[in-house]
Amino acid sequence: MHAMKRYIKDVVDGFVTVLVGMTVTGREFMEHKERVTTLEYPKHSKEMPPRFRGMLFNDVEKCIACLLCARDCPVDCIEVTGYGKGKARRADVFTIDFNKCMWCNLCVEVCPVESLYMTHEYEVTFRDRRDMFVDFMLYKQAPPRPLALEQVPEQQAVGKNAKIPEPEPESEPVKEKPSPKE
Ligand code: SF4
Ligand code: SF4
Repeated sequence: MHAMKRYIKDVVDGFVTVLVGMTVTGREFMEHKERVTTLEYPKHSKEMPPRFRGMLFNDVEKCIACLLCARDCPVDCIEVTGYGKGKARRADVFTIDFNKCMWCNLCVEVCPVESLYMTHEYEVTFRDRRDMFVDFMLYKQAPPRPLALEQVPEQQAVGKNAKIPEPEPESEPVKEKPSPKE
């Protein structure tokens, strides 16, 4: 009889504990609905912030094969060769080995014609390491560009809560004192 009473008490305690827990969860949910960030991926997904570094892409129609990106790449994963001179120069080979790329963005920063850029594409999978050696000459259709840097609000560019320092006032030139002999 004593064991039966304890069993029933445990069942009731368990039920009450779950009920209390769910009440707290329900109250938090109702009070902070705007904080709910879970989306039904992949049906719904969030828009990436403007500076998000997704899949790197080179628009070979614009690339002038200047080699700056290849020279600046710290892991040496870009290969470029080209033909022609000056602005008419074009790439005939442009590959990136994504086995090595670390999305540092240095190549994008040095590209003088902005043909190389980070897209917002992040749903990229490779089934074979050999597929990660991407030949951009095969991609004539460039994906949409992310927002240009000048469109990024300054506040966002340096962090949401960052204080943007005021420019220092220009100091006036120090006047030299006339020497007593003059
Ligand atoms: S993002 Fe960095 S590592 Fe990747 S290709 Fe560009 S420079 Fe190289
Ligand atoms: S820096 Fe830009 S233009 Fe120069 S080779 Fe690289 S992608 Fe082409």
